[in-house]
Amino acid sequence: MTLASPDSLTGTPSAIPMLHGIMKEAETQPKRDAKPSLIGMNRDEIGIALRGIGLEDRQIRMRTAQLWHWMYLRGASSFDQMTNVSKDMRVQLEQHFAIGRPEIVTEQVSVDGTRKWLLRFPPRGAGRPVEVETVYIPEEGRGTLCVSSQVGCTLTCSFCHTGTQKLVRNLTAEEIVGQIMVARDRLGDFPLATSTDPKAAVPSEGRLVSNIVMMGMGEPLLNFEAVRDALQVAMDGDGLSLSRRRITLSTSGVVPMIPRAGAEIGTLLAISLHAVRDDLRDELVPLNRRYKIAELMDACREYPGLSNARRITFEYVMLAGVNDSVADARELVRLLKGIPAKINLIPFNPWPGSQYECSDWDTIETFAEVVNRAGYASPIRTPRGRDILAACGQLKSASEKMRATERLALAAMVGGNGED
Ligand code: SF4
Repeated sequence: MTLASPDSLTGTPSAIPMLHGIMKEAETQPKRDAKPSLIGMNRDEIGIALRGIGLEDRQIRMRTAQLWHWMYLRGASSFDQMTNVSKDMRVQLEQHFAIGRPEIVTEQVSVDGTRKWLLRFPPRGAGRPVEVETVYIPEEGRGTLCVSSQVGCTLTCSFCHTGTQKLVRNLTAEEIVGQIMVARDRLGDFPLATSTDPKAAVPSEGRLVSNIVMMGMGEPLLNFEAVRDALQVAMDGDGLSLSRRRITLSTSGVVPMIPRAGAEIGTLLAISLHAVRDDLRDELVPLNRRYKIAELMDACREYPGLSNARRITFEYVMLAGVNDSVADARELVRLLKGIPAKINLIPFNPWPGSQYECSDWDTIETFAEVVNRAGYASPIRTPRGRDILAACGQLKSASEKMRATERLALAAMVGGNGED
């Protein structure tokens, strides 16, 4: 999915920041452990892991509860921090398991406070380590974390830069939860966070990471089990405790998985719609060739728990002369009939080689007016973090480019060739 800005959730356009990104290596880059991580496991899985190292059944429940508390409520990143666990037990846990964070390759901070991390995960089986991006968008009263579910994407949406990169692999539940853990560490949102940036821009009140949007790299419903398991950890009331009403799962329309997402995850749903006719959507979102708009709308109408309080968000990128006519707006209203919905209009953010241009402002406003008059909220989203390329569909490849730039700059300073 393309990256959301929290404007999509509030309807409040944010100021466009000046081009002034700050890039720096994160201060701490924990070395990854080859031992299995307990992060991302559910309680039963932790119990099985503990049984595997010889804990007796009567101990397992208590130890699992302790671990859960330290990992997710306190934010412990090492067993040593678990002061009410006996020394021997801590040593035993340390020998067999890890609870560390993914490696932070870079951390960029926008002038508007948006923060983007490039995180590195180890290879799973054959292959090289992989990198994904996670973006934090602070606002008045909320802090939204945009989380990735895959490395690359199979779906090749024609307006999306991430879609130009082939899928490398799915992320595991551990790696999805790990993105939340890194953000909370760096923002100081855990009592035991050890790598906090004291200058982080955060909401003035409430939780620093209050909302999650599964809108980073990848199509979450094509990595269903890992996304479900990770979000269940994120929603657990004795741990990270994020409300399911503050988590949005975004799909480009994997229709058969939508009922399962409602039943087994139960978060808010967003649909990357972008076109109201099948011929055009086939081109913009090629998945439409398999699941047509009518089928998608039926799945939305039947989404479990759908109500005015739990509306579906429809994402609609504004492409000049392609999908932005008044007739398109009217057809959109017709399509959404009977679905409690909100429409996010996203000004297209061109990337090198993209074949589209953004609609002009008047056209976007006219489109919004038609949708508004029909009774649907239709905030126009202004991308956040533009200066650090954290906007829609710019994840991963853009950061690789910035890393290359940074390497060159560094090479010029030290007289090297800029290679790793
Ligand atoms: S190609 Fe499509 S599904 Fe994949 S990340 Fe981009 S918008 Fe999302």
